[in-house]
This record gives sequence, structure tokens and C-alpha cells, in this order.
Amino acid sequence: MARDIIDDRFIGALHVRALTRAGFDHDPVAEHTAIQAGTLEALMAGGYEGDTTLDEVMRLGNLGIGTIQQLDGELVILDGTAWSVGSDGNVREVHGSTLTPFAVVTNFVADVTRTIQGPLSFEKLTQILDGAAPPDAPVIAIRIDGEFADLRLRSVEKQEPPYKPLREVVAHQTEWSIASATGTLVGFRFPDATAGLEVPGYHLHFLSDDRNVGGHVMAATLVEGQLAIDPCHELHVELPDGVSLGTPGSADRAEIARLEGGGASAG
Ligand SMILES: [Zn+2]
Repeated sequence: MARDIIDDRFIGALHVRALTRAGFDHDPVAEHTAIQAGTLEALMAGGYEGDTTLDEVMRLGNLGIGTIQQLDGELVILDGTAWSVGSDGNVREVHGSTLTPFAVVTNFVADVTRTIQGPLSFEKLTQILDGAAPPDAPVIAIRIDGEFADLRLRSVEKQEPPYKPLREVVAHQTEWSIASATGTLVGFRFPDATAGLEVPGYHLHFLSDDRNVGGHVMAATLVEGQLAIDPCHELHVELPDGVSLGTPGSADRAEIARLEGGGASAG
């Protein structure tokens, strides 16, 4: 019988379980659980293939972010549909058979909701999220539907093997600005102690209602909208062969901030 669980431990208040590829397929659907494929560290090192499909990830969660095989854009999973924003800024729906080297999703349940009348800077918005999040929640999943202004978005270019490390790819990332858009911010806040396994702090992607605009959010102003928070106490991570949980928390924050940076936090 295949071994399902590779690692099982607490990182602060967060219960982290690392699963084999087979274990991931046996993992029961749950609420208040963040589901992750791969690790940020493996992605930073140039692991852009992955061994898990979006369908397999989306079996366990209907909302999330990440990237897809060959680093072909910024991934947004919203209401069970996967979208990728390419380096040219174009948004396209991606097929469930697409592999992902790094994605985090949850079966979103809005435990906390709030109507926000802005405008609010990205920094103010993250402060409101911090205040609205249940204090005992180590991880929060976030969904904000509304009207946004001064969005600064980025994406990365599709890579071909042999793969360069992420810092070399990000050095050539494309950034663009959108004066205003109606849509959804999707993402997570992970604790600092998970740095390297995940992006510590806020990591948010945007997708417009008309599905024409999106990307990894460097900055944004919330004009008005509805925010929803799902607290997660569990993190289940699928680890491809040769990838381990490593030593979460030991990662170089400055390096992660350079790669994923923008906004108020490392996200
Ligand atoms: Zn991102």
C-alpha cells in the first residue's frame, strides 16, 4: 500500500501535513483547510513542472492562486474555474488537465464578511483584513469582490527547460497598471513561520469580472467592495518526488519579497 503521509507537524498553530502524490488523491474534501501543491522554495529553485493537475487541486478547493506548468502565468482559481494571466496581460481559462508546480486553494467558506466603503490603500486594506480575521486563525483565505483603482499587476513569462531560478525570471517580469476595474482579489495570508514553504504575509491575485484583466497584485486601491475571510487551521501539501517541506521559516524573506513583493507585506 502506498504511503500517503510524508510529514506531519505543527508550525505554530498551523497543522501541516505533507502528502505523497497518492496521498493527495486520497485526501478527503474538507473545510477551513488550505491545500497546496509544491513549495515556494522548490519553485524558487526553478521547479516549474509540477506533478499535480489543476483538476486534482480543484477537487479539494474552489478558490486559490499559484502558477501553472512552465510558469506560464499567474493562476487565479475562482468558483471552481482556473484562469491564467500571461506575461502579455491576457487572461485565459486553463484546462483542468494542466499541471501546476505551485498552487494553494481552499474550499472557500466565508466565516467573516464585511462591506467596505473606501477608497482604501493596499496597506489599509491589509490592516482591515488583519483586524477582521479571527485572532486564532494561523492562515486566512481572502476573497474581495468590488471596485478597484490603481491596480499594479504583474506576470511572468513562460519558461523552457533548462529552467532558470525564479529570481532570474522575475528580473524580466512584466508589470502594468490599470486605472480602474471591477473584479475579485483572491489570495491568502500565511504566517511568517511558513516562509519558504509559502509566501509569508499577504499574497493576492486579481481577476476582473469581464475576465479581461488580472495578475499578481503589487498594489491596489479598494474603492468599495465586499470582503470575505475563511480561516484555515490546516495546511495539506502535496510534495512531488524529491521535494521536502524543508525548514519552513528559515527562508530568506528579503529574497521572497523581491520575488513576490509589492504591497504592504511580502505578498
Ligand atoms: Zn502571485
